[in-house]
Amino acid sequence: MLPTGGHQEAETTMATYTCDKCGMSVNISCASCGKALEDDSLEKPDGSKVQISKCPEGHGKVKSPLCCGQDMTCPV
Ligand SMILES: [Zn+2]
Ligand SMILES: [Zn+2]
Repeated sequence: MLPTGGHQEAETTMATYTCDKCGMSVNISCASCGKALEDDSLEKPDGSKVQISKCPEGHGKVKSPLCCGQDMTCPV
């Protein structure tokens, strides 16, 4: 028996970003292929890191969402 309670989970790992301050969470997916974006980070020339979300199919990448003035975090 499957555990009760829910909707079907997608096979891909959802990039769920959560705000530490207010608890809001969002799922981000690619508008081109509909797949959940993957968590990743870029290192800038000055050495600082930027958290980003990228399409696993290579359609592009976006900066992680902001909420309450700070980067939302992805636990994946
Ligand atoms: Zn917030
Ligand atoms: Zn895509």
